Amino acid sequence: MKKFYITTPIYYVNAEPHIGSAYTTIMADIVARYKRMMGYDVFFLTGTDEHGLKILQSAKKKGKDVREFCDELAGKFKELWKDLKITNDYFIRTTDPDHEETVKFFVRKMVENGDVYKGKYSGWYCVHCETYYDEDEVEEIDGKKVCPVCKREVKWVEEENYFFKLSKYNEPLKKLFEENPDFVEPEFRKNEMLKILEKGLKDISITRTTFKWGIPFPGDEKHVIYVWVDALINYVSALGYGRKDSEKMKYWPADVHLIGKEINRFHSLIWPAMLMSAGLDLPRKVFAHGWLTVNGQKISKSLGNAVDPREFVKKYGNDVVRYYLVRDIVFGKDGDFSEEKLVNRLNADLANDYGNLLHRTLAMVKKYFNSSVPSPGKSGGMDDELKKRTEETVNSYIELMDSLRLTEAVEKVWEYISFLNTYFDRERPWILAKEKNEERLSAVLYNTLEGILKVAMMAMPIMPDTSEKVLRRIGFNEEIKPEPLTSWGVLKSGSRAIHGKPLFEKIDVKKLKKVAEVKKLEEKDNIITIDEFGKVDLRVAKILKAERVEGSEKLIKMEIDVGELGKRTLVGGLAKHYTPEELVGKLIIVVANLKPRKLFGIESQGMLLAAKIGDKMKLLTVEGEIEPGAKIS
Ligand SMILES: [Zn+2]
Repeated sequence: MKKFYITTPIYYVNAEPHIGSAYTTIMADIVARYKRMMGYDVFFLTGTDEHGLKILQSAKKKGKDVREFCDELAGKFKELWKDLKITNDYFIRTTDPDHEETVKFFVRKMVENGDVYKGKYSGWYCVHCETYYDEDEVEEIDGKKVCPVCKREVKWVEEENYFFKLSKYNEPLKKLFEENPDFVEPEFRKNEMLKILEKGLKDISITRTTFKWGIPFPGDEKHVIYVWVDALINYVSALGYGRKDSEKMKYWPADVHLIGKEINRFHSLIWPAMLMSAGLDLPRKVFAHGWLTVNGQKISKSLGNAVDPREFVKKYGNDVVRYYLVRDIVFGKDGDFSEEKLVNRLNADLANDYGNLLHRTLAMVKKYFNSSVPSPGKSGGMDDELKKRTEETVNSYIELMDSLRLTEAVEKVWEYISFLNTYFDRERPWILAKEKNEERLSAVLYNTLEGILKVAMMAMPIMPDTSEKVLRRIGFNEEIKPEPLTSWGVLKSGSRAIHGKPLFEKIDVKKLKKVAEVKKLEEKDNIITIDEFGKVDLRVAKILKAERVEGSEKLIKMEIDVGELGKRTLVGGLAKHYTPEELVGKLIIVVANLKPRKLFGIESQGMLLAAKIGDKMKLLTVEGEIEPGAKIS
């Protein structure tokens, strides 16, 4: 049996899964299901990337233990894939002990091959953020270099790190790209990589010593392995590389690494170089798809458009969402997710073109053949053209799916549906019934059903539940194999057909718009959900220092202690109500995750809460003693 190994990127758990990560995983699932249908032995891998400083910080921000934080988010990804009926064969986490074992083994191989050396890594360092910045990344305020994130002063540091001799692989990589013109797709993504190779690759630092949340470097445990090196190795650690349970290594090399365009460099240059260094075969293809926007905007938490795909699945069904994504967003290019466009696809392509064809065919089978699949009857009319068209469609579908041109493949299937509708209309079975031409009536209905069978099979990887339903309704109850797709006349006469309800229900676009308007009104009324409220990080803080802001009658500048979140500067309009001396030592309540803003040239990193009526104002405080930084919930 031919094997096929496909991977998604492993998702970074510093944020919850959204429609963007779902898109990549659904596309990989479509390919995996297609290959299984075509008789391949498929291994489909997805998982989560859980090491590194950013994760540590995200956990800290939520006041959670980092391991607990990772468990929680990895769980959310797993749950989403289950809800979306993703058929991954394995889910890898980079915090799995097995993965750690493989990573150490892999890195030792690179060391043994003479590709790792100790060197000096230098850059600007922010102690607060535990992050290095290049010269062009730091900002300057009052002649001081400051951190671009927290605006604290940065210092120049040099750190001893281990480096990977990536430069050594510049030429071998060029050769790889020359000999395998399809190694990176789409082509314009490949050209970006070629440009980098033209400039020449520099060696890269592959360890860190400033934090511990990672896999220790074998032989020098002061260092942890750089998160990207750790993450890329997941593609072989999931197969047991370098371990006792390595029988799944039969799937290596990967046939496709499916990724987003922003991580192409890591997969198309660094990863193959690492594999060459460790002496492993190279993946056959890296496919970088584009970015998804939502209603024309980049997906981001702060824009509030990081939509949960489940919301749409609940409303329209899993298959409809899958169909929409693969059909409307050209696979490989950037695309936009819009509910209105989804509804248009549902109404036109699914309910009208596909659903109606099935419905009216089965209605006639019920009426004239007592719901039993008719015999192939007598050939005539457009029958030959239909058979020719079927063969052409199936062939190009297979070719397109094999070369990952998923959108074009689906377009071919819908062109074919449209042809089936034409065939049905031109052969006019309702007239044949009136004329009592049973031989032709039976042929036209049989042929249409056989055509629908091809559609259901070709759509199987995209809309698995719908396809199963359709096959059952047209009386096809056999195992799914490639043969029924590539040969004509597989439907058995006499099988029981089921008329049933329409396949898809149309949605009233006008009604949909009204619902959206009502939602907007609710937002205007200041109704928020508990999730929205949960976004506000309220903390107890202690006022350490307070002074009036020069040139302002109202403002007081304070230094506050927010416990684990550190010390911060806060500016508040308190001068008419409190003297600075009265404020020092008070425990107050602050919004800790408010975007910093400047007041009289001073950046206020948060907001304090106070009760106000008329011109009377009192600070909110806590009853009794509690540590600064305590969370309010
Ligand atoms: Zn910083």
